[in-house]
Amino acid sequence: MKAGRFVLAAALVLAIALFFQFDLDGYLNLDFFKSQQAAIEAWREARPLAAALGFFVLYVAVTGLSLPGAAVMTLVAGAIFGLAWGTLIVSFASTIGATLAFLASRFVLRESVQSRFGDRLAAINAGVEKDGGFYLFTLRLVPAFPFFVINLVMGLTPIRTRTFYWVSQLGMLAGTLVYVNAGTRLAQIDSLAGILSPGLLASFALLGVFPLIARKLVAAAKARKVYAGWQRPGHFDRNLVVIGAGAAGLVSSYIAAAVKAKVTLIEKHKMGGDCLNTGCVPSKALIRSAKLLSHIRRAKEFGIREARAEFDFADVMERVQAIIKTVEPHDSVERYTGLGVEVIEGRAKIVSPWEVEIARNDGGHQRLSTRSIIIATGARPAVPAIPGIEDVGYYTSDTIWNLRELPRRLLVLGGGPIGAELTQTFARFGANVTMVLRGERVMPREDLEVSELVMQRFRVEGIDLRTGHKSRRFVIENGEKTLVAEHQGEEVRIPFDVLLVAVGRAAKLTGYGLEELGIPTGHTVEVNEFMQTNYPNIYAAGDVAGPYQFTHTAAHQAWYASVNALFAPFRKFRADYSVVPWSTFVDPEVARVGLNEQEARARNIPFEVTRFALEELDRAIADGEAHGFVKVLTVPGKDRILGVTIVGEHAGDLIAEYVIAMRHGLGLNKILGTIHIYPTLAEANKYAAGEWKRAHAPQKLLAWVRRFHDWRRGRPLSSMSHTVTPRERRRAGMAAHTD
Ligand SMILES: Cc1cc2nc3c(=O)[nH]c(=O)nc-3n(C[C@H](O)[C@H](O)[C@H](O)COP(=O)(O)OP(=O)(O)OC[C@H]3O[C@@H](n4cnc5c(N)ncnc54)[C@H](O)[C@@H]3O)c2cc1C
Repeated sequence: MKAGRFVLAAALVLAIALFFQFDLDGYLNLDFFKSQQAAIEAWREARPLAAALGFFVLYVAVTGLSLPGAAVMTLVAGAIFGLAWGTLIVSFASTIGATLAFLASRFVLRESVQSRFGDRLAAINAGVEKDGGFYLFTLRLVPAFPFFVINLVMGLTPIRTRTFYWVSQLGMLAGTLVYVNAGTRLAQIDSLAGILSPGLLASFALLGVFPLIARKLVAAAKARKVYAGWQRPGHFDRNLVVIGAGAAGLVSSYIAAAVKAKVTLIEKHKMGGDCLNTGCVPSKALIRSAKLLSHIRRAKEFGIREARAEFDFADVMERVQAIIKTVEPHDSVERYTGLGVEVIEGRAKIVSPWEVEIARNDGGHQRLSTRSIIIATGARPAVPAIPGIEDVGYYTSDTIWNLRELPRRLLVLGGGPIGAELTQTFARFGANVTMVLRGERVMPREDLEVSELVMQRFRVEGIDLRTGHKSRRFVIENGEKTLVAEHQGEEVRIPFDVLLVAVGRAAKLTGYGLEELGIPTGHTVEVNEFMQTNYPNIYAAGDVAGPYQFTHTAAHQAWYASVNALFAPFRKFRADYSVVPWSTFVDPEVARVGLNEQEARARNIPFEVTRFALEELDRAIADGEAHGFVKVLTVPGKDRILGVTIVGEHAGDLIAEYVIAMRHGLGLNKILGTIHIYPTLAEANKYAAGEWKRAHAPQKLLAWVRRFHDWRRGRPLSSMSHTVTPRERRRAGMAAHTD
């Protein structure tokens, strides 16, 4: 295959080189044609079929080899064959030639280009796969885009050959007609500029703006279709109505109020949504108490002969509620009312694209008309339909906060971030926790070594990890709740007292009007890059829109949704997901931004790995937390960061430096050139950059520098015999930070 590619590439290069070597381009211009016009026309008169065929083959060769001259040949076609035949010949010849160039580019270049620039092309590939025909059609219509560039570039994308062919033929037809038509008057035209008569100019101008007009027309047609049958109010009560007061809804309404829009926020349950009431805040508060217990258990490591903890689990859970109460005012009705948001406590239902009906918690009903709506209704824990699950009863992340008694035996289903955080936390309080996983590891989105490190810690802390277990049914046997699972073809029985289901979270999609309006949903509400649903004035943000399920991504999307909802069509912003960080707050903490190894491999993106082990970091050693690593993926040979995974104490905080670096295109050299306070955990970021720098040190140059120093000492050879320790290397790296 590689040899075939090489042969084809060589043949093409040779053909193009010969074309220029023998000045064949001299024959593909208007002057030459005009000098030969009479002879050519005579030939066409005498042998019309041969003339058409010869011209056709020549046209295919010129376009297939991406040689200059297609525009002139199109004019000539008009002059020789007239409008109808000229258009027919050129339409097929140009499309066949274009397709040959497209196939050659695909065969010779696509694999290497995709593997080199796969990460940067990912968005283009996705766009082409979804909308490739339309993109191509637009490009074909605009004469500003060179014909041969489109052929070659399209060959690198995943567009299908058949689609490329027919869209090209259709898209080029208008341009072909204009050129061939101009060619019919070639006798009067002396240069390419001469074809720019007012009539032709107008048709080119039309061709230029046609794609834009076409796009607008398509969008307008789609909107017209979707709004058909709905009565648009003459005026609106509100600029924006936001449904749901979680992270996404709060941020959306805050932004709307800040830019002086009239906005109403509707919440049916608790202000603050999941994050405040059942998610981030309670889980992190509980994790904090559990961490204290783990430190007390490790007292001897810190030189404390004896430390004991006495606690009542109910008090711990009350502390969690107290923390929620402390944070609550930040998300309260009072605060948001003070910020200029009208807050209504009640259940909202979208009854038309511009109207929301509210069943207020005080029993009243209200209907509001609004120019735009943001759906921010969040997600709920998914509960798998395992036979017997309702009989044994279960907790989810919504209800676990009601527990006041520590379960003796806790069974956790699911090994994602929520399951992993709560598993370790309950184990640290002293529950016997069994974690049941269908797959082979916890947190499967992270690299294998990350999961292994976390699992190793879980095992050390006494957690019973059951990987590769498929939950078949729940039963009550001899008064004991039991999970019957299948493991390696055998039935396994796991008795427990309390079940926590943590297998994922499903977007809330029913019961508030999406079905009635026909807003498309898969796992989430379907939105475009502007966060718009199929109704351009209805937006969605947060867990309900996905694909991420974090408070910070909900807030990020909320900005786009609210700004677009208030200012489109005058100003619209595409949601930018280029740098999304997250953290799982297990111990050791796991944080990530950008790609990890498994994703880079899956997407065929070449990378280099640089690693710094926290065992070597002074502050981590002093803190008794010298475990974990900083792993940085970079573009081979360059310091451009593709992604970072940090495992260790405060990883979620440490990653911020890399998030900023990636967001603003700063490479590892810049991190290395920045002073970090000693002794801090943050130094790990710099030391990782130092490791990268050392691996890319110019060895040959350094050998010469060594000779220079030897010479300066008046000695022929270096007498340096001291072996450099890792610590010395690191410290040296601190100084060696030139870009
Ligand atoms: C245990 C746990 C720990 C987590 N830890 C973290 C973490 O550490 N970091 C992190 O970034 N993320 C974390 N998350 C995820 C985070 O909580 C969510 O991503 C975030 O809350 C999503 O916000 P949202 O606004 O999309 O939805 P939500 O917070 O769910 O808010 C949606 C709101 O809409 C309301 N609503 C729904 N339907 C209607 C209706 N018809 N009318 C009126 N109101 C309605 C709901 O009552 C709810 O208040 C955690 C989640 C859980 C469960």
